[in-house]
Amino acid sequence: MNKHPLTWVEISENALKNNVSLLRSIVGEHVLLAPCVKGNAYGHDLLTCAKIFADFGADWLCVNALFEAKKIRTILKDIPILVLGYIQLHELQEAVENNVKLVVYNTETLEQLEKIGATTGKEIDVHVKAETGNNRQGLKKDELVTFCKEVKKKKHLRLEGIYTHFANIEDTTDHSYAMQQLQTFHDILLELENKGIVIPIKHCANSAATLLFSETHFNMVRPGIASYGLWPSNETYVSYLSSGKSPLMLSPALAWKTKIAQVKEIDAGQFIGYGCTYKTTHQTRLAILPIGYYDGYDRKLSNQAYVLIHGKRAPIRGRVCMNIVMVDVTDIPDVHIEDEVVLLGSSGSERITAEQLGNWTGSINYEDVTRIRESILRISV
Ligand SMILES: *Cc1c(COP(=O)(O)O)cnc(C)c1O
Repeated sequence: MNKHPLTWVEISENALKNNVSLLRSIVGEHVLLAPCVKGNAYGHDLLTCAKIFADFGADWLCVNALFEAKKIRTILKDIPILVLGYIQLHELQEAVENNVKLVVYNTETLEQLEKIGATTGKEIDVHVKAETGNNRQGLKKDELVTFCKEVKKKKHLRLEGIYTHFANIEDTTDHSYAMQQLQTFHDILLELENKGIVIPIKHCANSAATLLFSETHFNMVRPGIASYGLWPSNETYVSYLSSGKSPLMLSPALAWKTKIAQVKEIDAGQFIGYGCTYKTTHQTRLAILPIGYYDGYDRKLSNQAYVLIHGKRAPIRGRVCMNIVMVDVTDIPDVHIEDEVVLLGSSGSERITAEQLGNWTGSINYEDVTRIRESILRISV
């Protein structure tokens, strides 16, 4: 029996350190390493990861939103933070006070920032986003050139960076679309250079690009998922293996655990859970787990997934409820209340990976780790 709460997440600090140093060895000393810690560090806990990444070699951190940057600032005063997502006009003052670098693509934002720069006397670092084929945030070549000129005119703004983001690099082993985006990015960089617009930091690499293509590194990389020890996809893994590069041992850093709340015997022919979707065919011993879709344990795992108890697989019976899951422990001896249950991670020689959860839920490892409810205690191990 352990003194942990009912449900908790274990974060392996060694795994995080290992991943950061592997990424460093891939990009070398001269490329800024800027791990993405958005989405509560992909469910791994923002502050735990920010601190470890900063302590073990990250140069910058990337977040999505201002609130994440502010949270990091409570423990790390100096590390450069790039906010990738939109910051509202009325929040810009706070962004500047927190010394974040931000992405700009609206003139309204530029004007507001310039005012703030003028009143505070600060020089504000901004990055522009080039549209190269993702059609998310960003500006196309001509718009971008005009926009950069506008930025350059603002006395208190420093056009520090330009970046783009790949749309189709981890979803396929055919990287032609990504290479086309890279070419478009080069075209844009050349155009800016021709117009005399100098931008010191150029970046485009997410995890897949960082791992597969050194020509995408420029002077900064923004790996997310790989920092947590997860491959972006099977396709990325296969591409990596067939590239002839030396093997890369990313270490998954997260395990998700709970405890058994009740053990009970039920007869053959009994239904289990909402919708009566499961009917026992023999006498069954069930363990009741205090976990559900509220916690981020996807309802699509109903009747599909298994958990690990004493190193053995216990299949889920019936539907995942909001706060409860039922699993079959008929063939697992000596199961007792408060025994540890692994929802994600290893137990004995068995292991449930984030990729496995992603397969069951019809999603990807990214989503299944990121959605683990933020208020569940993260414990560093
Ligand atoms: C999330 C994100 C990344 C990191 O992507 P991974 O696939 O997790 O490495 C990089 N850049 C931008 C703009 C992002 O939004």
